[in-house]
This record gives sequence, structure tokens and C-alpha cells, in this order.
Amino acid sequence: MSEKLVEISGVHFSYGPSPLLADINLTIREGDFVGVVGANGSGKTTLVKLLLGHLLPQKGTIRHYCDGKPVAAPQIGYLPQYAAVDKSFPLSVREVVETGLLSPRTMWRPFLSSGDRRRVDAIIEQMGLSALSDKAIGSLSGGELQKTILARAIVSSPRLLLLDEPDTYLDSCSQENLYDFLKKINKNCAIVLVSHDVSAVSERCNLVVSVNRTLQTCSDFSKKCPL
Ligand code: ADP
Repeated sequence: MSEKLVEISGVHFSYGPSPLLADINLTIREGDFVGVVGANGSGKTTLVKLLLGHLLPQKGTIRHYCDGKPVAAPQIGYLPQYAAVDKSFPLSVREVVETGLLSPRTMWRPFLSSGDRRRVDAIIEQMGLSALSDKAIGSLSGGELQKTILARAIVSSPRLLLLDEPDTYLDSCSQENLYDFLKKINKNCAIVLVSHDVSAVSERCNLVVSVNRTLQTCSDFSKKCPL
């Protein structure tokens, strides 16, 4: 069996008096492509924030592993929801991608090595963003910005990639390209994909879970999945 990357055990979370997530259990392994579906407001983004450690569960545990051992600072790539990105921030495409290689304690540019810069160039090219690399993100189309923040999420070669609605603002051709690309990187990186596009998720993911206070695994998604 492939190696365990994350174990969520008995997690409860609420923002206020009523519980949003209750008794959540999920194990994510290398090579997994997990689709997370659920109604608006059911707690999908909250689950992603718990996985990132931006929120802490009131009960239960979320443990990340590397080579079979628990780690406190896991390597995670994160693509936030499009709406969470501030387009007015004065950064170019290249600068946004570079931030994916900086840890919160690292200073800006001087600390990027020449190897880091080559890695940034390679990802920008791979994502078809070369012609836009010096453009301000405020001037990009929705799809171009999505590609830029995806490039930022993967530039550090994370072992776990969390994508919150990555297909918003992508036309159907770009969506196909995105899923083809995700399939390629999935060989070296487990993916958790939050999506409202139930059919896209059920076609591509090896595990689909539905959030509705608890987490239900949709083993036969095409027949019935509780949303
Ligand atoms: P989803 O991603 O499934 O649409 P979210 O996880 O974003 O749902 O939100 C779940 C619920 O929690 C929603 O009702 C939302 O309004 C509420 N919520 C989200 N963030 C906060 C917060 N920081 N404080 C209070 N309530 C919040």
C-alpha cells in the first residue's frame, strides 16, 4: 500500500455554537486524487484550511507524515479560491510564482537561488505563462490568474496539493488542460480538489468525499452521492 501522507481522525470544528464539521475521518495517501464535493457553506474550504493548519480542530487530530514519520511542517501546495486572491496587489506573474518558494520566515528576492529561478522559469513555461511573466496580475484574465496561482502552488514540488475550486473562470478547453496537467503531477503529488463540478470530480478522482457536517465517501458516485 502507498505511503500515508495525512490522517484526519475524529475531527470536529465549529466557528460558533453549532458544529460545522463533526467526526471527520480521512486518510490521504501518496498518489491519491481526492475530490471534495458538497453544498455551498457545507464546510469544504474549512476542511482545506484545517488541512493547511490555518484552523485548528476543537476535537480530534490531523497528522501529516513524511516517509512514514509524523511531521510538523508538511510540504503543501495550496491554490485558494479565486475570490480570495487580491488582484490589486502590485506583483507580476513571475513574482507571484516566486512567492511559492518562500517560507514565511524567508525574506524577498535575495534569497532565491539560481536553481530556484530555473525552477520558476520551468513552471512558468510548463503552464504556458512565458509571454505573461512580467505582466501585473491585475491585468490578467480570470483563467490566466488561475494558472498563475496554480503555478505558485506547485513550484515547490509539494507532496500534497490542495486546490479550492481551481476550475472557476476556466473555459472548457482550459479545464481539460488543467485536469490533464493534474493527472501528470499526481504521480508525485497527492491532490485534494474541492469542486462544485460533481461530474468532473467523479470522472477524475480515485476517491470522492461529500461534506455535509460529516464526511461521506462516495464509492459509487455515479449512482448516488449525498450532497
Ligand atoms: P464551503 O467551502 O463548503 O462553501 P466554507 O467552509 O467556506 O463552506 O464555510 C462553511 C460555513 O462556515 C459557511 O456558513 C460560512 O459562512 C461559515 N464561515 C466560514 N468562515 C467563517 C469564519 N471565519 N467565521 C465564521 N463563519 C465562517
